[in-house]
Amino acid sequence: MGGPAPLTLITGASRGIGAATARLLAQRGHDLALNYARDSQAADSLAGELRALGRRVLCVQADVADEAQVLSMFARVDVELGRLDGLVNNAGIVAPAARLDEMDMARWQHVFGVNVMGTLLCCREATRRMSTRHGGTGGAIVNLSSRAAQLGSPGVYVDYAASKGAIDSLTVGLARELIGEGIRVNGVRPGIIDTEIHADSGTADLLAGAAMQIPIQRLGHAVEVAEAIAWLLSDAASYTVGAVLDVSGGR
Ligand code: NAP
Repeated sequence: MGGPAPLTLITGASRGIGAATARLLAQRGHDLALNYARDSQAADSLAGELRALGRRVLCVQADVADEAQVLSMFARVDVELGRLDGLVNNAGIVAPAARLDEMDMARWQHVFGVNVMGTLLCCREATRRMSTRHGGTGGAIVNLSSRAAQLGSPGVYVDYAASKGAIDSLTVGLARELIGEGIRVNGVRPGIIDTEIHADSGTADLLAGAAMQIPIQRLGHAVEVAEAIAWLLSDAASYTVGAVLDVSGGR
């Protein structure tokens, strides 16, 4: 076995795709910082499960849309866990299904605040730690986009789709900006994955019907997205830079 375990920060790790990614990375030998916004019980219980596997795990509450909270989250990781090797920008939100002409500014600020500003802030703080330009030793970043970025989600949440389009552009640009400094940046575009996020858009009842429209004829499981994230983070993806992988059952 080689040196110390890789240390990875996952935002929005208390449930869904973030929690599935935490479980998979723990099984593969990562120490983990588990960020969450509100549900400390879920994060603590997941941390207990992963510590039982022998991993070092820190739960960190922070709203990723809030710069001060992101700064203190990274500072805690520095002090309590040490040198960061990986970041998964997974925290993301949707809003109730609506047409654009029914949406207000507060909703857009919330969706773009978490999905876009949150990802920008965490990318910046991770770069300041991992880039060889800043004295770091390199690392990997994986950003969660969505198939919505390309399909547009008309009549449901074009604002969310636009926020994920921003993530796709960021992933390509930042990948090219940072690859010379030892950091690989990539993304994942999930299709419709069976998590609690759909309750927040009020579309959970439509999922069974939606599944039939997907070429593979079923929803995705969070662990199927986690597998792609874990691969992109790993050295097995050493030549993969600025890629955004569709994990969408053919949708
Ligand atoms: P989820 O089940 O709703 O979980 C969201 C996670 O993000 C929770 O851990 C939540 O923490 C956290 N979170 C929410 N707001 C946050 C904030 N402001 N700061 C920090 N953490 C916050 O979502 P999911 O379905 O796993 O989705 C994960 C990612 O995949 C998102 O970026 C989503 O857009 C993307 N995605 C999902 C699907 C899908 O069909 N599920 C499809 C395409 C893309 P608390 O519970 O503690 O608040």
